[in-house]
Amino acid sequence: DAEVNAYRRQLEVRVAGFEPPRPIQTFGQCGFDHTLLGAIKRAGYEKPTPIQAQALPAVLSGRDVLALAKTGSGKTAGFVLPLLVHVLDQPEPGKGEGPIALVLAPTRELAEQIHKEARRFAKPYALRVCAAFGGLSKFEQVKELKAGTEAAVATPGRMMDLVRMKACTLGRVTYVVLDEADRMLDMGFEQQVRSLLGQVQPDRQTLLFSATMPKKVEGLVADVLSNPVHISVGQLG
Ligand code: ADP
Ligand code: MG
Repeated sequence: DAEVNAYRRQLEVRVAGFEPPRPIQTFGQCGFDHTLLGAIKRAGYEKPTPIQAQALPAVLSGRDVLALAKTGSGKTAGFVLPLLVHVLDQPEPGKGEGPIALVLAPTRELAEQIHKEARRFAKPYALRVCAAFGGLSKFEQVKELKAGTEAAVATPGRMMDLVRMKACTLGRVTYVVLDEADRMLDMGFEQQVRSLLGQVQPDRQTLLFSATMPKKVEGLVADVLSNPVHISVGQLG
């Protein structure tokens, strides 16, 4: 449809894949409840960034998504807001059940930023978002994970440790985010990422965010995403 194409051009958004959903113009078009719209407003987000405009409706539709956009383009909210919608739809995890959503990021700093953003939007719902990365007490992480948590934000190495220690099981995970996938593979986490994906629900929703698309990421996309919507914004590095 010409109007949708013109709007995508204006946003510098390109899409591929089977029937990509229409981009949104406002957060109000996402079907979010009052609580979440209020939290978005309080965060100072007036309108979706270009990647959010196309990624939010794609992720909210339940499709797998490959999203390419440079740093600083607002990718985090593109997967964190639908994550909350996803977990709110499921029965609350009890003790020892493990999370519903798993977000993997390459470094402690990046995982920390995502954890902060997720906590900010999860707070009004009293949803639990557990952080699992180095530099934090493993003992505390084990305690939080064992008590039950809706979501975990982790580095692949720490998550592997926690799974091996049986502090966390991934059998209930139905929403997986691989953030900064290019950096995760550069840093040598491919086997860990693949191993963790092998432990979640096979019919999970998988979202892969990256700033660049090297061959290694292409391989991962082919293996772990199913009929994805491809989205890219602007000129990529
Ligand atoms: P990326 O992951 O693409 O590098 P981030 O998700 O870290 O980008 O977002 C970059 C900055 O933009 C953050 O400070 C974030 O709070 C802010 N931001 C995200 N979405 C919006 C929005 N819709 N409106 C205004 N600021 C936003
Ligand atoms: Mg980011």
